[in-house]
Amino acid sequence: MAADPLLDVAVVGAGIAGLTAAALLAREGLGVDLLEAHSQSGGCAGTFRRGPYVFDVGATQVAGLEPGGVHERLFRHFGVPAPAATPLDPGCVVDLADGQAPVRLHRNPEAWREERERQFPGSGRFWDLCAAIHRASWAFAGRDPVLPPRSLWDLGQLLAALRPDSLASGLFTTATIADLQRLCGCADGPDGARLRHFLDLQLRLYSQEPANRTAALYGATVLQMAQEPLGLWHLEGSMQALSTTLEQALAQAGGQLRRRHRLERLHPPERPGAPWRLEGQAAGGRPFLLQAREVVLTLPPQSLPTLLGDTLPAGYRARLEGLSDPSGALVFYGAVERRRLPADVAPHLQRHWHDPGPLFVSVSREGDGRAPAGQATVIASVFTAARPWFGLENAAYLERKRAAEAGIRLGLQRLLGVNPADWSHGELATPRGFARWTGRPYGFVGGLGQHPSRFGPFGLASRTPLAGLWLCGDAIHPGEGTAGVSLSALMACRQLLQGRGATWCWRDAAAT
Ligand SMILES: Cc1cc2nc3c(=O)[nH]c(=O)nc-3n(C[C@H](O)[C@H](O)[C@H](O)COP(=O)(O)OP(=O)(O)OC[C@H]3O[C@@H](n4cnc5c(N)ncnc54)[C@H](O)[C@@H]3O)c2cc1C
Repeated sequence: MAADPLLDVAVVGAGIAGLTAAALLAREGLGVDLLEAHSQSGGCAGTFRRGPYVFDVGATQVAGLEPGGVHERLFRHFGVPAPAATPLDPGCVVDLADGQAPVRLHRNPEAWREERERQFPGSGRFWDLCAAIHRASWAFAGRDPVLPPRSLWDLGQLLAALRPDSLASGLFTTATIADLQRLCGCADGPDGARLRHFLDLQLRLYSQEPANRTAALYGATVLQMAQEPLGLWHLEGSMQALSTTLEQALAQAGGQLRRRHRLERLHPPERPGAPWRLEGQAAGGRPFLLQAREVVLTLPPQSLPTLLGDTLPAGYRARLEGLSDPSGALVFYGAVERRRLPADVAPHLQRHWHDPGPLFVSVSREGDGRAPAGQATVIASVFTAARPWFGLENAAYLERKRAAEAGIRLGLQRLLGVNPADWSHGELATPRGFARWTGRPYGFVGGLGQHPSRFGPFGLASRTPLAGLWLCGDAIHPGEGTAGVSLSALMACRQLLQGRGATWCWRDAAAT
């Protein structure tokens, strides 16, 4: 089979990380092809249609659209209009199912402070400490550090981003959010337990870990996500609008998106100066072979042993195999007449629920493009261990799936008052479905849990031991979420361009 002409860079996976990386590199004048296994882009932030309904597959709310936020900076850099979005207020309503009023994550910082004082008496010092750590970490992140460093240049970027306040917050590098709670004297008694319950629910959404396993430096920022000057946003139309805008940026910069191109094998250069070879299948089972000087891979790093086979260095293989499993997800996609929902239902809710687990629920808004007039889509997700869903006999799998769906429907009945007969549509995706949709091993959808031992300097680097192979996406610093994976794409692209001696104009362009 003849290979296509030699590319500067092949980017693999057109989720938000891959679209961002490909558009950034193409805009710098490199010849870039973006390979996507699916017939559409977006990955975990994509959408699918069922009759008159449009469902967001995974991500339902977006951070980083505020002025200076990563998505906003990128759209400005690319010269494309940001997709239409409205800020969420409240960002989320969290029902701890303890008989007390749900916690409303107000967008206004003062209203949120009053809510916290009412809901979690005696926790003021904890929130003040989180806010101070967040301010330092956010300013540090804004100076585009490279983490973890794997070369002298990376180290230089990291050191240049440090300031006295980042060094001070660095004292908490090994601490967890639960440690901060104890340090501030608000961990004990019923009030401490209630605060911990709230923190566990919120942190699991972003870090895959509860408060006693979430790095303080990560969790402190996550806990400020819903408030101005940051904030969470609801996209008009669907989540696909984010990918469509990035596709536009890629096309405008001259990059090419190849849909239905599934990478199956990556061959490292046979000698210095030789290209990487990418082998796989295109639409209709047609084989393809591409050659590229460098490769940016956005698939979970757990895919590397299969893609590289024996060419994966043994030490790196051992590192990858030693990573603990990320989470899988169970997601219920439902539709219902709007009059069946509480009149004042918030677009995003969380509820403590025992079986199959705490629910994160997103309800479409009237006229937001997801459901016909007078109807709403309701998406409820639960994190779950992924592997147990594989290797089951079909009957056992179907029974497990039926039980999980029944549990979620019951939780939604308690939270929203929707009776079983009220649903006009309902279906459940399990880790098997996510593995098919996203090509992720075992349908792992979270990045690496943000435990202190895996966060920041202790995480997996975008620079791999194989020259010319770069990683980005939700397993790479700073973690998951569309904003997080965009930052990781930015970091990998800066490193790649620096290696080519290219002048990188990201910061200058973003500041204009
Ligand atoms: C249930 C759920 C809820 C979430 N909620 C939110 C939220 O509200 N807000 C938020 O910001 N984030 C949320 N997230 C996280 C967010 O969606 C992800 O962190 C982010 O979209 C990951 O982007 P990515 O580009 O790294 O990976 P992916 O989105 O997984 O993209 C990888 C792409 O690679 C493609 N691919 C895979 N294998 C191959 C191959 N061999 N060859 C070619 N292409 C391949 C896939 O088809 C996919 O398009 C949620 C995730 C889930 C699962």
